[in-house]
Amino acid sequence: MVSYKELGLVNTRDMFAKAIRGGYAIPAFNFNNMEQLQAIIKAAAETKSPVILQVSKGARNYANATLLRYMAQGAVEYAKELGWEKPQIVLHLDHGDSFELCKDCVDLGFSSVMIDGSALHYEENIALSKKVADYAHQYDVTVEAELGVLAGVEDEVQAEESHYTRPEEVIDFSKRTGCDSLAISIGTSHGAYKFKPEQCTRDPKTGRLVPPPLAFDVLDAIMEQLPGFPIVLHGSSSVPQEYVDMINQYGGKLPDAVGIPEDQLRKAAKSAVCKINIDSDSRLAFTAAVRKVFVEKPGEFDPRKYCGPARDLMTELYKHKIINVLGSDNKA
Ligand SMILES: [Zn+2]
Repeated sequence: MVSYKELGLVNTRDMFAKAIRGGYAIPAFNFNNMEQLQAIIKAAAETKSPVILQVSKGARNYANATLLRYMAQGAVEYAKELGWEKPQIVLHLDHGDSFELCKDCVDLGFSSVMIDGSALHYEENIALSKKVADYAHQYDVTVEAELGVLAGVEDEVQAEESHYTRPEEVIDFSKRTGCDSLAISIGTSHGAYKFKPEQCTRDPKTGRLVPPPLAFDVLDAIMEQLPGFPIVLHGSSSVPQEYVDMINQYGGKLPDAVGIPEDQLRKAAKSAVCKINIDSDSRLAFTAAVRKVFVEKPGEFDPRKYCGPARDLMTELYKHKIINVLGSDNKA
């Protein structure tokens, strides 16, 4: 048993309370390799933003659970080296799908876990989420649960259709599970293809897809039921067209990739939404930068020469999100 406190990590409780009061949201960035982690920490340290490092089940399988945990511990020390005296860094399990997985992460030094029972029936979701919350709270680890279903694909998590969270269920659900934050479904979606072309309109000037707006009426109704309760948005990448264009220009093929417009996320960040998950955007930035080097310098075979530019582009992306979308800069 390792306590996250020994690793210099923090849980989400104070962070979320401050974010709701201050009208901003904490970035939750997924990582599964060193360059991503370096970019996240550098961006957070340089902007003095609290940050949530997210590890999915897929990332644990890819990078090895133990190694990822030590990388997060290393990230705290790296942040200090960058001049961030008291780093506000959370290590969070994204989409935990069983009690055992969540327990394993709590025991390994995670400071926050998500239990995703959203595919289960309502009562089963409550029972599973409560079991995780009861265990995690013994160690002061915070728990995110989910109500409602997001469409899209993310690692092992996928659903054909979204089902908005039902505002009439949120009080009962949060009380009975004891969760510390609630992931909701209001039209965000996992992956780089968040909407099918038939769900969108097309901008006649640029020919690009314009996605349907988020269901802010559902968010408002949830906030009315649970005043001041921390709300989480998954699937909130914006799929920046500049990266999609770069990928396509350098031999990739991502037709009609579409995400959540940043002005809608900006609006959400000012509400009780205090954690916004961003994964696909950094995958796109990484891929765009690597493809560019491969096309422009076909003789290059030193991974540092293409992972380096990818890291720089991701750092730029993370700083942009922190400063211009979530407003979490200078809050840590
Ligand atoms: Zn998610």
